[in-house]
Amino acid sequence: MRIGALEAGGTKMVVAIGNGQGEILERLSIPTKTPETTMPELVDYFKSRQIDALGIGCFGPLDLNRESSTYGYITSTPKLPWRNFNIVGTFRDMLKVPVGFDTDVNASAIGEATWGITKDVNNSIYITIGTGVGVGVIIDGKPLHGMLHPEAGHILLARHPKDTFKGCCPYHDNCMEGLAAGPAIEARYGKKAYELTDNEEVWELEGFYIAQALVNYILTLSPQRIVLGGGVMHQEQLMPIIHREVLRMLNGYINTEELRAMEDYIVFPKLNDNQGIMGCIKLAIDEINNTIRRGKRRIDLNE
Ligand code: ADP
Ligand code: ZN
Repeated sequence: MRIGALEAGGTKMVVAIGNGQGEILERLSIPTKTPETTMPELVDYFKSRQIDALGIGCFGPLDLNRESSTYGYITSTPKLPWRNFNIVGTFRDMLKVPVGFDTDVNASAIGEATWGITKDVNNSIYITIGTGVGVGVIIDGKPLHGMLHPEAGHILLARHPKDTFKGCCPYHDNCMEGLAAGPAIEARYGKKAYELTDNEEVWELEGFYIAQALVNYILTLSPQRIVLGGGVMHQEQLMPIIHREVLRMLNGYINTEELRAMEDYIVFPKLNDNQGIMGCIKLAIDEINNTIRRGKRRIDLNE
C-alpha cells in the first residue's frame, strides 16, 4: 500500500510517501505560495507516486465537520490566499482517492499516539510551541474535534508579576501563544530564542507560562500523558522547570501515579520530527477504513 502524506504549513508543505506501518519511504518539502501555484505541484507529486490514499495535517482553522457543506476547507486563516480554500475536495477531485484530514497538531498527536511515546495510553495531549502554540487532544484514542477543534494555544493565562511584555497575539492580551510562543520570546527580549539559551530568567518565565497552561489542560482533560514539541522545546532546560512548576501550581490537589512519575508524564516526542507526517499516514489509513465502513453500511441499508 502506498500512502501519501501532506503536512501543510504556512511556510512549507512537507510531502511524503509511506506504507501501512507508518514507515516513510520518501519525503520532500516545497514552499507554500498560493493555492494556484502550490496545489498543482502537490497534485503532480502524488499522482506520479500512484497513492492509494492521502492524509493531510493542515494549518487552521479548519472545517472538520463531515456534515458541513464546507467540510475539508481551510476557513478563517490569516494566510489570505488560502482562506476558504477547499483543500480536501480539490485533492479528492484530482487524485480520486480517500483523503483524511485534520489539524497539523492533531496529526502530530495521532502520530505519537499510534507509533510513538503515547502509544500505550488512550488519552493524551500533544502541544507544539513554535511560531504559534497548538494543542492536539486525543480522547479514547481519537482526536477531539467538538464544535470546531481545540484552539487551546489561545487560553488566557495569568501574567507573571514581573512580565511587562504586552503579548503578541492580535486577538488577546494575555493568551498562551501571545505570551509564550517563539515570536513572543523574541519580541520580549529582542533576540532570537536560541541566542537566549544561557539566560535563566527567560526559561523560568517561559516555564511558568507553559506550566500554567498544562495545569489547566490537566485539570480539564485529565490526560494520561502530555507531549511537548515545537521549536521552543529545543531548549531542553525548559523541561525540568516545567515539571517543577506544574507540581508547584497543582499544589498537591491531585495526586496520581502519573504525576508522581513526572519525568514520564510530561515528555518530549519520540518520533524525531516525523510525528506530523506519520500522523498524516494514519489519517489516510483511517480514511480508507472509514470509506469501506461507509460503503458497507450503504449496502446494508438497501438490503
Ligand atoms: P513552526 O511552528 O513554524 O512549524 P517551529 O516549531 O520550528 O516551526 O517553531 C519556530 C519558532 O520556534 C521560531 O519562531 C523560534 O522562535 C523558535 N525556535 C526554533 N528553534 C529554536 C531553538 N533552538 N531554541 C529556541 N527557540 C527556537
Ligand atoms: Zn490569542
